[in-house]
Amino acid sequence: MSELTQLKSRRRFLGAAGSLGVTALGLGLLPVKASAADLPHVTDADATAKALSYVADAGKSANPARKPNTDCSSCQFYSGPKGKGFGPCQMFPGKSVSAVGWCQAYSAR
Ligand code: SF4
Repeated sequence: MSELTQLKSRRRFLGAAGSLGVTALGLGLLPVKASAADLPHVTDADATAKALSYVADAGKSANPARKPNTDCSSCQFYSGPKGKGFGPCQMFPGKSVSAVGWCQAYSAR
């Protein structure tokens, strides 16, 4: 097999593989990791948020169980950016909480 033939064969293979990958992504067959920014924010209407007394701004929480200097950023269940924005929380699968939020499930790292 000549070098040119091998190159053409390789191109055909890569082209077909690329097309299959794009098609699989389009059909949702391959997992695509969603970023935290894609997750919907937990709202006050969320049943779990109500049950855990979640607030998006810990400073506005009137809950007596909240200790000073505690927010989602310093909680072991939070895995987002520290001090700003939103990130995933294990208590709210598929959603994101405010970095400066707080709830009764708070547990220091
Ligand atoms: Fe924030 Fe922790 Fe409550 Fe999740 S469990 S909402 S990170 S305080």
